[in-house]
Amino acid sequence: MAKAMHHDVIVVGAGFAGLYGVYRLRNDGWDVLGIESGSDVGGVWYHNRYPGARCDTLSVDYSYSFCEELQQDWNWSERYAPQAEILSYISHVADRFDLRRNFVFDTRVTRTRRNDETGLWAIETDTGRHYTARFVLLATGPLSAPADPGIPGLAEFRGELYRTSTWPHDPVNFAGKRVGVVGTGSSGVQSIPEIARTASHITVFQRTPAFAVPARNRTLTPEELGRFKQRYPEYRRELRANFTGLTMQSTGKSAAECSEAEQRRALDEIFEIGSLGIVSTFTDVLFNEEANAVVAEYVRQSIRERVKDPEAAEKLLPKTYPIGTKRPCLDSGYYEVFNQPNARLVDLRETPIERVTETGIETSAEHIDLDMIVLATGFDALTGAILAIDPVNGTGKRLSEAWRNGPETYLGLASAGFPNLFLISAAGGTSVFGNMVTVAEEAIDWVAEALAWLKQEGLDTLEAKPDAQQEWTRHVAEVGNSSLLPGTNSWYVGANIPGKPRSFSVYLGGFNVYTAKCREVAANGYEGFSAR
Ligand code: NAP
Repeated sequence: MAKAMHHDVIVVGAGFAGLYGVYRLRNDGWDVLGIESGSDVGGVWYHNRYPGARCDTLSVDYSYSFCEELQQDWNWSERYAPQAEILSYISHVADRFDLRRNFVFDTRVTRTRRNDETGLWAIETDTGRHYTARFVLLATGPLSAPADPGIPGLAEFRGELYRTSTWPHDPVNFAGKRVGVVGTGSSGVQSIPEIARTASHITVFQRTPAFAVPARNRTLTPEELGRFKQRYPEYRRELRANFTGLTMQSTGKSAAECSEAEQRRALDEIFEIGSLGIVSTFTDVLFNEEANAVVAEYVRQSIRERVKDPEAAEKLLPKTYPIGTKRPCLDSGYYEVFNQPNARLVDLRETPIERVTETGIETSAEHIDLDMIVLATGFDALTGAILAIDPVNGTGKRLSEAWRNGPETYLGLASAGFPNLFLISAAGGTSVFGNMVTVAEEAIDWVAEALAWLKQEGLDTLEAKPDAQQEWTRHVAEVGNSSLLPGTNSWYVGANIPGKPRSFSVYLGGFNVYTAKCREVAANGYEGFSAR
C-alpha cells in the first residue's frame, strides 16, 4: 500500500460545512486537507441539480455569515435561490478564499480507522490514496446519502432513469416523453412542475402526500437586498437568537390563545408570505395535536382550492400524519400540475408499485408505459453519510455498532469512544431543524476553538465522556418526545430505511438554546469531554 499522506486535520465534504471547515482551520494555522467525492465544491448542491431545485429557506438567511465583505458583495437574485445560483455562490466562496487548493476531489472516503498508539486516524479512499490525520471533521451532510427505494426491477428499465439526488450535468430533455416520477417529498414537489412543463405526459407515483404551501418566490429588488445589507450583522445576530437560526413567522402564541378569527388571520398572512413558517404560526404546532390540526386543515383546504378535480384533490390531501412531522414543502405550481391534461396521479396506497419493467412501472392495477423514470425517493438521513465512511475506533469498534440503537452523540459534535472525530450538522444537534449554513458555521467554530484550546493546553485529544453523552442523548430524546415528530414514519426517525433503528435524534430545544449550551461546555473547560 502506498504511504499515507499526513495532515493535521482532514475535513470530509466540500459542501457549505466542509468549505467553511477548511477555511477556518487553515486560517487558524492547521495543515488541513478536504476530501470530496464530487468533482468540485457544492456538496448536495453539486449533486442535486434536478429541474426546479431551489432552497426553501430565504437566500439572505441560507448563506455564510462569517465574512461581512462576502455578504455585502454577493447579490442574491431571488427570494429562494435556485440550485445553480447557490452552486455559483459556493464556487465564488471557494475562489474568493482560494479553498480548492486544500481539497482533493473525485475521492470518496471508504473507511476511517483510528490507531490508539499513534493517536492518528487513517483515512482510506476509493482512489487508492490514503491519508492520516490527528483530527477528522465529518462534514458529510445530513441529507446526502441517497436512499435505495428498493423497487424490484429497476435495473431492467430500458428507458432513461434519473435520481434527483445525483442528477446529470448535461440537460435532460423531457419533451415528447412519458415521464414517471416516484416520490412526493421536497425533491418531487420541486421537480414535478418543471418536468410537467415540457413532458408529453407525467405520471406522479405518490405513496404519502406531502403538505406543501406556495413558495411565492420572486426576484429580490436591489432596494430589498439593500435593506438586509444595511444591517446584515445585526440581522444575523437576531436570527442566531431564535429557535431555528432562520427568519420565522409566528404569532408567538399557542393556537388556543388565539380566537378562531385570529388563527385564520395569522394563517392567511403567513400563507400569503409563502414560507415554511406556516408550521410555526402558533408556538405549539409541533407539540399539540389540536394546534397542529388547525394548521393541517388550513393547508388541506388550500390544496382542495388549488386542485380542480375533487377526486385528485382528495388523493393529494395528507391525512395520515400531523403537519410538520414529515418535513413540509414549499411549492411552485405543484398542485396545479394535476389540473393539466398531461398529468396523472397514481395513489400507491391504493395500487402499490409491484415492479419496474423494461418499459415502465407495474402497479397492482396496471402497467404504465414510460420513457423516463425519475426517482425522488429521498435520503438515508442524518447517519447515512457518516456510517458510509465506516469509522472504526482504536479498539476495533465500529461507529455503526455504537449506534446500533440509533445515533448517540454528545451535543451532536462527537461520539464517545471515537476521539478527535468531530461531527458537523449531525444527529444530536439542531441539525436539520436549523439554518443549515449557520448550524455548520457554529459547529465548525466550536471545533476550531476546541482544537486551539487543546494546542494551548499542550494536549491533542478530545473525546466525549460516555456519561455526558448518555445524559445529552436522553435530553434530546426527552425534548423530541414532547413533540409530535417521533410518532410519524419519516426520514427524521429513519423509517424510510428498512432495518434502520427508529430514533428521533434532532435536538428540538432550539438553535439558540443549543448554541448557548455548546458555548457553556467550552467555557467550562470542555465539560463532558475528556481532554488529554
Ligand atoms: P423525502 O422527503 O424523503 O421524499 C421521498 C419520497 O419518495 C416520499 O414521498 C416517499 O414516500 C417516496 N418514496 C421513497 N421510496 C419509495 C418507494 N419505494 N416507492 C414509492 N415511493 C417512495 O426525500 P426528498 O424529497 O429528497 O427530501 C428530503 C429532504 O431533503 C427534504 O425533506 C429536505 O429537508 C431536503 N430537501 C430540501 C430541498 C430544499 O430546500 N429545497 C429540496 C430537496 C430536498 P413516503 O413518504 O411514503 O416514504
